[in-house]
Amino acid sequence: MSKTASEERLPFLLHPPTQADVLELAEYAQSAAVLYGLVMAASASSSSGSGQAPTWTAMPVPMTLFPTVVPRSCYHQARSLMVPLQRCMDSLARDTPFLLQCLRVTATQDPFTARLCELARQNPMEDDRPALGILRADYFITTDRRLRLVEINTIASSFGALGSHLRSLHTHVLHRADILGLFRDLPHRAHSDLPGHIDAAVAQLASWRRAQCENNMPENGALEGIAEALAHAHRWWRAQQESQSLDVDTAVVLFVTQPGERNIYDQKWVEFTLWKEHSIRVRRATLSQIAEHGQLVTTGSGTRPALTLAMGAAGDPRAEFVSVVYYRAGYIPQDYPSDREWEARAMIARSSAIECPTVAYQLVGSKRMQQILGEPGVFERYLSDSPDSKWHAQDAASTQLEERAHSKAEAVLETFVGMYAFDDPSNRAAIVQRVLDHPDEFVLKPQREGGGNNLYGADMVKCIEAYWNAPEMVPRRQDPEHPLCAYVLMDRIHPASSENVILRNGNAPVRSECVSELGIFGIFFGNARHRGSASTSTIIDTLNQAVGHLLRTKAARQDDGGVAAGVAALDSPWLDTV
Ligand code: ADP
Ligand code: MG
Repeated sequence: MSKTASEERLPFLLHPPTQADVLELAEYAQSAAVLYGLVMAASASSSSGSGQAPTWTAMPVPMTLFPTVVPRSCYHQARSLMVPLQRCMDSLARDTPFLLQCLRVTATQDPFTARLCELARQNPMEDDRPALGILRADYFITTDRRLRLVEINTIASSFGALGSHLRSLHTHVLHRADILGLFRDLPHRAHSDLPGHIDAAVAQLASWRRAQCENNMPENGALEGIAEALAHAHRWWRAQQESQSLDVDTAVVLFVTQPGERNIYDQKWVEFTLWKEHSIRVRRATLSQIAEHGQLVTTGSGTRPALTLAMGAAGDPRAEFVSVVYYRAGYIPQDYPSDREWEARAMIARSSAIECPTVAYQLVGSKRMQQILGEPGVFERYLSDSPDSKWHAQDAASTQLEERAHSKAEAVLETFVGMYAFDDPSNRAAIVQRVLDHPDEFVLKPQREGGGNNLYGADMVKCIEAYWNAPEMVPRRQDPEHPLCAYVLMDRIHPASSENVILRNGNAPVRSECVSELGIFGIFFGNARHRGSASTSTIIDTLNQAVGHLLRTKAARQDDGGVAAGVAALDSPWLDTV
């Protein structure tokens, strides 16, 4: 029997859903989302410590009604690339001179990058300091089943927690869809067709569906992984401080947040997991609150001062030590309305608290650095700078290690698409001409995070024309510091599409052709070890693993935008069997 179009596009469904089914399932799924804690604040949330009573409003997070098919091989490949990616990013972040040199021209055209670079220059990552990374690498998958890297997020990688609960929700929705189909079929079936009593049929269907979901929807350990990374760094910090006889029993992990954050519950899940699994308390504060309530306290000669924060319950002036600072803010210029917020960031960087991420890590995740990582030899150089190969540099095994680093680098670089900077005046005109001739083949990216900043099609052409063809710009085309240097250009990726239903903000379900972006969460803790002479000191990654995933789906006609930016929806990967 030939399959209907709908069956082919949503292969995990036993019965193609009718419009009535979609409406019923949408209501069910969104109620379940609230029950599972898959929620966002309905309006700007008031932050703790603001002096106001907290507001408690929650609504279902944007999500798809059904999972989306993802090639199994691509999913596993994306996970396996996380370890070399994180190693390389760490080693690159530690090379401050290279980082600043790469970003020098960009910084002349982008004041935000310039300030981050200045902070990095004043606070270079030291070899004897561990670094904590919670990263997410995002990929599109093309129709020929190839992974294409969109970007690597090194700061405030979000939706790890909410995404972790989606598998259970989609398992329920699919079972419910089965039941709707079964019931619809009932009047048309002879009783003898039914596998026994209807209850038995439903139970059989439930266990079949559960097994299907377990086999095809991978478990998602992002939430536990993120909490484990923070706890790991917290334990390391405590061990260091205890050796200086500091009383650190009450030390907290500090979440740096945006005022009025709507994605607060994604962060609250991490806070709860830290408490439930690790007995670690969290404080939340904006950069301006940290400027007001934070302080550096000298704890011993030759060591970094400890960061303390006096933001406990109202009327409690006691300051708490901060072990780890987890930034869920600080990645857009609006997070720094005045110098005070920059001063708070600098104070944290000078303290003994472990930053997640350091400013250098943040810069390594910039669009310009992604473009540089794709240049010949760069990724390989920093990957092979990693501990094993450095330590064994004189060993007989060194050639083997180098070869291994080479093949790992190749596997990562295979997922890169072309990216181009405008820094070199000698090829700037050629790049501009290519974009103007083929605007649908490129995306123009400023050094911004958070979605909704990139330029496509006519908007991109308008921007480039303004910087290139406007009469006052023509004489500047060869300038070493040109306004286009604030951007990088990227080959446009054309991902495979599939049908799904998007549920957003309580609106009517929207059935459409969609594209999905697969994110892999990774955690990294690089701990410095000195072996032998200082020249052989090296960073040992005591934590480097892929921990979970995030699938985000949007209507194929939408160019840009994440979940928080108001376009995409959380989704679950359904791994195909090929
Ligand atoms: P941000 O840091 O703002 O999230 P991204 O580089 O992730 O920036 O881009 C935002 C969105 O734009 C992505 O989620 C994706 O939907 C789209 N996008 C980014 N790069 C490309 C590309 N090369 N081709 C097609 N779409 C892209
Ligand atoms: Mg992104």
